[in-house]
Amino acid sequence: MTAAYPGLNIDEAKIVDAVEKRLYVDGRWVDASGGRTFDVLDPSTGEKLCSVADASPEDGRAGLDAAVAAQPAFAKTSPRERADMAAEFFRHFAGEAVRIDGGYQTAPAGNARFLIAKQPVGPSLLITPWNFPMAMGTRKLGPAIAAGCTSVIKPAHQTPLSMLALMGILAEAGVPAGAVNCITAMDASGVMEPLIRSGLARKLSFTGSTRVGRILLEQCAEKVLRTSLELGGNAPFIVFEDADLDEAVDGAIAAKMRNMGEACTAANRIFVHSSTIDEFGRRLAAKMAKLTVGRGTEPGVNVGPLIDEAGLEKVRSLVADAVDRGATVLTGGGVAAGNGYFYPPTVLTGVPRDAAMADQEIFGPVAPLTPFDTEDEVVAAANDTEYGLVAYVFTNDLRRALRVAESIETGMVGLNQGIVSNPAAPFGGVKQSGLGREGGTVGVDEFLETKYIGIAMP
Ligand code: NAP
Repeated sequence: MTAAYPGLNIDEAKIVDAVEKRLYVDGRWVDASGGRTFDVLDPSTGEKLCSVADASPEDGRAGLDAAVAAQPAFAKTSPRERADMAAEFFRHFAGEAVRIDGGYQTAPAGNARFLIAKQPVGPSLLITPWNFPMAMGTRKLGPAIAAGCTSVIKPAHQTPLSMLALMGILAEAGVPAGAVNCITAMDASGVMEPLIRSGLARKLSFTGSTRVGRILLEQCAEKVLRTSLELGGNAPFIVFEDADLDEAVDGAIAAKMRNMGEACTAANRIFVHSSTIDEFGRRLAAKMAKLTVGRGTEPGVNVGPLIDEAGLEKVRSLVADAVDRGATVLTGGGVAAGNGYFYPPTVLTGVPRDAAMADQEIFGPVAPLTPFDTEDEVVAAANDTEYGLVAYVFTNDLRRALRVAESIETGMVGLNQGIVSNPAAPFGGVKQSGLGREGGTVGVDEFLETKYIGIAMP
């Protein structure tokens, strides 16, 4: 584990060594009770990278108690104080912190005035997935801090190190003890469920799978917690016959290959007009075949490993299923070199709509192409899913672009662009892709309550 980042002169082992691997509770680093730990694996080798603290339910409770104790004082800090940090999601929400507004209204009868104030929701539980470990955490911590909410964050067990590193940075930046706490644990449900049901937390913000989101929503019902859920996706990527094909191919690579396809926003079903699917497939396969697979620390590598063995197996079996049902492999498939969880960039064409991959997140570097003939047909196919996070539409016909964007049942649409995530935009899904929005001017509202104060003015 001594490889250096080429050109950056960063030693990986030193970075891993530098991160505290204990729980961050009430402004202090503490061991898990009984000194328990779990292993974090390197997905490019399958070998152990390090161990981190494995919290018990009591350790989780200590984190929430610290957040509850810190809440009243933190709510009183000035917006300017809470804004004093940076880096993309933090930079955006630092701006929002000083723009939290209120209102003053005259009652319709003229006999009263309404003051409208925004206040922090209160102690918040934040649960994040492994696929963008830093961004998913900062997308929650940024608005929580901006709004004046204290929190307990639990990162995914596969990727706890970035959040632990961030705790050190937040402490250095002067975030008060107890305002942000980090709990790492193998038994996510055993540690988090008692906190959700405790009645002490006022909010849950979760990013992860729809399956787990449903479980958490039920748990939140008991104490009627405010909930924000950023869940799974099954993004349609539609290429009409009038699209600029090179632009669409580049868009497909951006939408498919971000994080090796392990993204909720990944293009999961690529519908291409039947008059252009062969040419589109040829160009996409040529570009995908040129991507270099390997460890991210090696020079010239474009595509790293998948997260773990289970993720790799899922991709293999979904590709095998599509091929069994008649899909053709244009590039990739098979096995990538190396001991880690690598899968080669793959393009399949003629993927039938009943293939297993059309119905679930592939979460790998596999682009499945399916032909269509009419606009109505492709919109119906795109909407034929329980998910509704994002869709991508490539066309040069403005009216068609708007018609399709309005008819597609998703929270976000990329028109002639393959990436939608941006801290300044309201990110989120409809249907079973989630509740609420992160980012944009509305992101901070998820951590605020609106209070109305009526004043009689006879
Ligand atoms: P996951 O299995 O749902 O896990 C997400 C987080 O929830 C992890 O921290 C996990 O802990 C924890 N967790 C699991 N079961 C739990 C339970 N019963 N109670 C409390 N916490 C529990 O998802 P994942 O595999 O990490 O991430 C991939 C999923 O996230 C995909 O579906 C992807 O689409 C979705 N995602 C959505 C967005 C979005 O913005 N919509 C963004 C990124 C990812 P462990 O560490 O123990 O697993």
